[in-house]
Amino acid sequence: MDRSIELERQYCARNYDSLPVVLQRGEGVWLWDVNERRYLDMMSAYSAVSFGHSHPVLVATLIAQAQKLAVTSRAYHTDQLGPFLQSLCEMTGMPRALPMNTGAEAVETALKAARKWGHKVKGIADDSAEIIVCRGNFAGRTTTIVGFSSEPQYRDGFGPFAAGFVSVPFGDAAALEAAITPRTAAFLVEPIQGEAGIIVPPAGYLAACRAICTRHKVLLLCDEVQTGLGRTGRLLACDHDAVRPDGLVLGKALGGGLLPVSAFLASEELMGVFAPGDHGSTFGGNPLACAVGAAALRLMVDGRLVERAQEMGARLIEGLRAIDHRAIREVRGKGLLIGLELDPGVISAREFCERLMRNGILSKDTHATVVRFAPPLIITESEVEAALAVIRAVFDSLSDNDRDRIAA
Ligand SMILES: *Cc1c(COP(=O)(O)O)cnc(C)c1O
Repeated sequence: MDRSIELERQYCARNYDSLPVVLQRGEGVWLWDVNERRYLDMMSAYSAVSFGHSHPVLVATLIAQAQKLAVTSRAYHTDQLGPFLQSLCEMTGMPRALPMNTGAEAVETALKAARKWGHKVKGIADDSAEIIVCRGNFAGRTTTIVGFSSEPQYRDGFGPFAAGFVSVPFGDAAALEAAITPRTAAFLVEPIQGEAGIIVPPAGYLAACRAICTRHKVLLLCDEVQTGLGRTGRLLACDHDAVRPDGLVLGKALGGGLLPVSAFLASEELMGVFAPGDHGSTFGGNPLACAVGAAALRLMVDGRLVERAQEMGARLIEGLRAIDHRAIREVRGKGLLIGLELDPGVISAREFCERLMRNGILSKDTHATVVRFAPPLIITESEVEAALAVIRAVFDSLSDNDRDRIAA
């Protein structure tokens, strides 16, 4: 076995079951393992690497800023935070932003803001605000967040959990409305559920949720940590439905694939609940993160990456839908966030990903049956065609013998 894998086995916590490949280098949509074998990255670190690996502009920005000033804490102002948040707010149409690092922290920030708004603005009795979430949600791994997950493994053994969360089925606006009570402060939703298996709700769902939330004075919080920043072929997945949320959570791609950078964006009224000392983060909004984040946003616009995600996504989804194979149950998604649902009676998603890996494509199964295709947004037409050729070849290789062997 590879020495690096052995060392991970010996020293690392066993909280991941990584595919057996040892990567050492990346450039654009490509990754190389320690044997200099090249792979097309169709996963992009769960959408964190939307700009491709080691984008030269982002790396140059990172180096220049690191040499100048990297971390100060927000005990002081820096020349980087204001301009970064100005770009972020102007691009997303949200008036204010609160910078954090990981997606989970930004979601926690949204939950804290929503509860405080519920108690101080809406007039819900202290400590009784409720937040409605969707079954199948994924919003990170903190104790509060896993407490409202519907995935047994994410919760098992980690309780007791925070109270105040109510679950409704995803994609069912009537269920949302029925669950609202005078204590409801907010509804937290992913416009497309990523980790649940790239679940696209019925058309008009988000717009219906927006109308319901407005009618009942409930905040609409959109978790776009995965779907945001061009991934689905719009800058925000909310834009597909022309919906403006009261609170928006961004992360992953915001760090340009180099750093953890996240943000909670909100209306004046919602963000107004925070006074100095109410909330914070040592690293949130550090100048290094801001410089890279601002450069990433510029690249999004200058590289026309939203349009590219839409065009390349349409090509990829069309190509996948054209594959006629008994193992395929469904191909779904928007832009370059695509899920291929397999019949586990023919092949598991994990086994399919291992076969893709052996043929030079890195992807990742989500749950037992879905293979995720979410390459960097910079992917070109010929790279999409090359990926489709490999995927078709893997399907072709699933002979009846293979099926018997896999089932055995
Ligand atoms: C990945 C993800 C998160 C959590 O982000 P981390 O940076 O891993 O904490 C939150 N919400 C969604 C929708 C995600 O996909």
